[in-house]
Parts: sequence; structure tokens; C-alpha cells
Amino acid sequence: MQDWGIKELSTLLREKKTSSVEITTDYLASIKKKNPEINAFITVDENRSIAQAKLADERIEKGEGDALTGVPIAQKDIFCAEDWLTTCGSKMLHNFIAPYDATVVKKFNEAGAVNLGKTNMDEFAMGSSNETSYFGAVKNPWDLTRVPGGSSGGSAAAIAARMCPGATATDTGGSIRQPASLCGLTGLKPTYGLVSRFGMIAFASSLDQAGPMAKSSEDCAMMLNVMAGFDPKDSTSIDHKKEDYTKNIDQPIEGLKIGLPKEYFAEGLDGDVAKLIEAAINQYKKLGATIVDVSLPNTNLSIPVYYVLAPAEASSNLSRYDGVRYGHRTSQYDDLMDMYSKTRQEGFGEEVKRRILIGTYVLSAGYYDAYYLKAQQIRHLISEDFKKAFQLCDVIMGPTAPSTAFKANEKIDDPVTMYLQDIYTIATNLAGLPGMSIPAGFVNKLPVGLQIIGNYFDEARMLNVAHQFQKATDWHKAMPEGALS
Ligand code: GLN
Repeated sequence: MQDWGIKELSTLLREKKTSSVEITTDYLASIKKKNPEINAFITVDENRSIAQAKLADERIEKGEGDALTGVPIAQKDIFCAEDWLTTCGSKMLHNFIAPYDATVVKKFNEAGAVNLGKTNMDEFAMGSSNETSYFGAVKNPWDLTRVPGGSSGGSAAAIAARMCPGATATDTGGSIRQPASLCGLTGLKPTYGLVSRFGMIAFASSLDQAGPMAKSSEDCAMMLNVMAGFDPKDSTSIDHKKEDYTKNIDQPIEGLKIGLPKEYFAEGLDGDVAKLIEAAINQYKKLGATIVDVSLPNTNLSIPVYYVLAPAEASSNLSRYDGVRYGHRTSQYDDLMDMYSKTRQEGFGEEVKRRILIGTYVLSAGYYDAYYLKAQQIRHLISEDFKKAFQLCDVIMGPTAPSTAFKANEKIDDPVTMYLQDIYTIATNLAGLPGMSIPAGFVNKLPVGLQIIGNYFDEARMLNVAHQFQKATDWHKAMPEGALS
């Protein structure tokens, strides 16, 4: 049962061949067994999950419910879930019980999905390896000595180790796609504004976007059907027409124009990863796609621009953690200022502090024009690059990450090398475009992801393009050794 996808589980539930309680119990047992080693979950609450499963079974019994009713889904611990511990991977929120549901969580609850627990993540979603979590590093189920990617590494490891069939994730610079790539999964970062950010703890508000992570494109489409939609509680939510992302997923892709940006195949890309990406492109040619060369000339500027803008926004967003209303508060202090500073010194980890310092610096009066304003201008140029490329093609493809999963502790003391993990993913966040990663093979038994970048609100086409590849290949079905034992 643990290897079934969301689509299969949904069908079996509706045919009454199994029950939500049965499925949920099975996954909870899987978590109990594997989580002590993998550390993918921060919080599991068996009683609450089973109670939700019982309610789902009642709905199904009455002939009610939707496609996801009774299907267990894990929630990244960046989403507030009412009465659940919601930590964002930080000591600052180690004791924070959310008083309300994020819109994403609310939508899954209304759909009747079961919350299986809260997944581990890099602290405040800052990281690419899941090593910055206050709750300890997450291990990659494909090789326990390696990282699962980040910041949604807990969600990715949980699915790869068959502790859940799907999970929510968020992507500010690559945090859905890079862990999906490193763990052999399918993950989609939607167009900015398609999924509500209400109740999703803010890192860099102009870049943060929630999306689904699962084994297949079909499963992601089913999750996106639940997640997408206008939310008046999020001022950056876009009133885009409601779509059924599963509807056209099976259409042939004959005539699809795939753009290959030369900058995504340049220096820095692992040679074996490049070969697999080329093989995937050849597969697409067999499916009837044509290839065009495109250029994204400002690719190399995306990381420096991101590391000005994201910390700037983070330094502002994180100023709310002052120990006054909720979260960690230092135990001994002299006066208010002392309380603030000790609370923040104790509550934030090293990477978060680094970002706050950078952000505060680039926003300071004397440097604002030189850094922040300049970065905003380049951000515009990066968006323009994509606009030009999409005049020539329907989707853009390339690698998701420059390499396979790296060893734990290998890059944690070298932030700049760590930041380079997102060289192919960050530009889409800066432009607000949707991006996806799908499994495309293995190098030394470690998964490699193919990235698909779409035009604004072209998620349905991307999912269709991904699904056709998954009908022709089996990479997405592979699982780590012992995942079902
Ligand atoms: N790795 C990037 C960072 O550390 C992106 C993280 C994310 O997408 N949340 O900021």
C-alpha cells in the first residue's frame, strides 16, 4: 500500500477497496519505523490523523467527498495548521501552536485529505540541504550519508521513503524542485500568486510560493487542484480562472516546442547529469517535440540578485520574532532591548542570522541604491530574458540542480557553494514563473531531475508534458532500497 500513488489511493477509496483509516494506519506505521533514522517529520499526531481518516471514511460512505477525500498528505512545517505545532524548522517557533489554518491546509482539510504530520525543513526555508533545521538534519533515503536537498527536504524524504504519498512544499529559490530532484520525485512550483500564501510563514514574500510534491505528475495535478485558487486573505493572490489540472494531462504533445537555454548546459553542470538531461530531451523528441535553442543571458546574475532581495525581504519578515507575543523568549534579561536581542540571538540559527545581516545591510540608507535597487533592476532583466525565450518555445527544459545529492556536511560551512545549488531554479522565482522537476534517471544510484519551466499560468501544459514523459519512462516509479521493508 505504501507505494501507491495519490491517484491509485483515490480510486481504491472510492471503490471502497480500502478505507482511509487503513491507509492512514499503514503510513503512520511506516513513519514510526523509518522516521527515527530519516528525520523527515517534526510532528506526528496519530490520534488526530486517524480521527480525520474516520471522518473521511464517513464522507465516502455517504457518497460524498472529492478526489482527495481520505488520502493522507504531509504538510511542510512552514504552514500554520490549527492546534498543530508549527515550527518552520526554527528554535524561534519550537513551542508555537498555530491558532489557525493556512489557506493551503484549510483547502486540504475541506477536501477531506488527512494530515499525516508536519515535515522537517531548513530553518525558515533557508537552505538547500535540510541541515539548517533546529530539529536536526534530514537524510536522503537513497543514501543516508547524503542530503535530501532543501528547504523542503522533509517532504521529499518522506515521500521517497514511502512515509506518505504526497506532501506540500514551498519554493522561494528552488526548495520544491531541488529536493524533488535529489530524491527522485515530481515537484511543481506554481506561478507566483496561483496558490495562497496566507498562513505560510513568510521568508521572502515576493518569491515564496507553495506547491505539490509527489511521485508523479498526475498526483501533483490532483494536489494542485486542491491548492490553487484566489484567496482574498493574500494580497498577492491572483484571481485566475479555476482549472482542472488533470483534465488534459493525457493529451499528446506532438509539436511541442522545447527551448534549451545554452546557459543551463554550461560550466558547473556535472557531466553525468548533463547526459541524462540530453537523454530526456531525446525522449521528448521521440514523443514528437521539437527543440529550439534559447538564451537566458542573465542566468549568472540570478544568484547574486536573489541573495540581495531574498535576505532583504527576510530581514523585514523576521523582525516580528521578538519574543513578545509568541515563540521563543529568552529566560533572563535586564530590559526590553536586552530581551529582544537575547531572544533573537538564541532563537535563530547561523544561516538565518547571516540572511538578516545581509538583508539589513543592503536595505540600509547608504547602500540601498547600490544593492537593493540594482538587484530589482536586474530582476526585471531576468524576467525579460524569459519573455523573449517564450516567444520561441512553449516550455524551457534543463537540469534542476547541477549535481546529484551531495554528502551531509560537505557544503554547510561554505555558503556560496551551497547557494550555487539553485543556479537553475532561482531565475524562475525572480520572474514569478512556474517550474517543475521530474525524475530523469540515476547517476551512481542517485536520482537526477529534469526541470520544466513554463510560461505564466501554464501549469496544466507542464503537467501534461511531464505526464507524457512519465508514461514513456519508469524513473518516477523507482524507490530507494528497503523503502517498503
Ligand atoms: N536554497 C535557497 C535558499 O537557501 C532557496 C530556498 C527556498 O526556495 N526556500 O534561500
